[in-house]
Amino acid sequence: MNETLFKKYNVPVPRYTSYPTANEFEPFDAHRYLKAVETSNDAAADNISFYIHVPFCRHLCHYCGCNSVAMAQPKRIEEYFETLHQEIDLLLPHLRKDRRISQIHYGGGSPSSMPLPLIRGINEHLLSAFSTIDKPEIAIECHPGYLESNDWQYLLDSGFNRFSLGIQDFNTDVLRTVNRRPSLLPVADIMEILRKGGAKVNFDFIYGLPKQTTTEFVSTIQTAISLHPNRLVTFSYAHLPSLFKRQMILEKAGLPLQTEKLKMFEEASKMLQSAGYVPIGMDHFVLPDDDLNVALQHHTLHRNFQAIALAASLRRFTPSVCQASASWMPPMRRTPRIFRPTWRK
Ligand code: SF4
Repeated sequence: MNETLFKKYNVPVPRYTSYPTANEFEPFDAHRYLKAVETSNDAAADNISFYIHVPFCRHLCHYCGCNSVAMAQPKRIEEYFETLHQEIDLLLPHLRKDRRISQIHYGGGSPSSMPLPLIRGINEHLLSAFSTIDKPEIAIECHPGYLESNDWQYLLDSGFNRFSLGIQDFNTDVLRTVNRRPSLLPVADIMEILRKGGAKVNFDFIYGLPKQTTTEFVSTIQTAISLHPNRLVTFSYAHLPSLFKRQMILEKAGLPLQTEKLKMFEEASKMLQSAGYVPIGMDHFVLPDDDLNVALQHHTLHRNFQAIALAASLRRFTPSVCQASASWMPPMRRTPRIFRPTWRK
């Protein structure tokens, strides 16, 4: 990799994992929201995907820049899910019933840290309202630090067929420094349960954290490759302490030099490609037969990228995240804004 280019572009930018990026979000009223929802009926006539945001975590990791708050009272969580059910009911009359669900994705926050029957309830609600394509993808982001064998099995039994495991690093010293619990079960055991249940598995890693070295990160990636996930992501740690105060703790713990960070990514990328993974975008790697690679090869991805975000925008909650397809989003504002979850008084 060209170091000059790396330095030029290795600057904080908005997260690219949603479109439009979070700093482009702007307030919207019910009328505008529903108009956008209805427009989606024509923009993506066949399929529909849902993204459910669960903005709660048991503990906040020091590096985190996600839209999440430390686990609220159980009552608050129940209220949040009740509100999601209400929001689904409000949306349904505006969506064409012959659209078939191709994907449901639960992100956060940490959806797998919620009481799992609440997640299952939302899933059943959506699936009872539409038919689905032949093999819809029902995906969930999971924090392996809190899930026992029976929890993984429960999620499989609830219809989940793609699991993103937030491993971040196999080095427990790194995890301790960033206030993140390591996996409760050996990841190999989790893989066995999920594979037996016919699910696909993604691993998420972060490089650029305190206590990480290229040698150690290479060993983490080696372990990951030996477990053969379908997809693997190496996120670059984005250090933005002015927005996320808790990241100051990491600064004190000592962040690796930029050159070391670049080396971590380069080595990981080389190893993954020699193990047969195909690079997608900036930092995603997938097995050649992965749906994402196949869809990109056939230029069909855009058809499935029609998402309605449900984020409990009613009652006591303000919308916490909104992902949507480019085809029906209103013009974006240019003034950067960062949205954080806020409770209405
Ligand atoms: S579990 Fe995930 S969303 Fe929650 S604080 Fe940690 S990194 Fe952020």
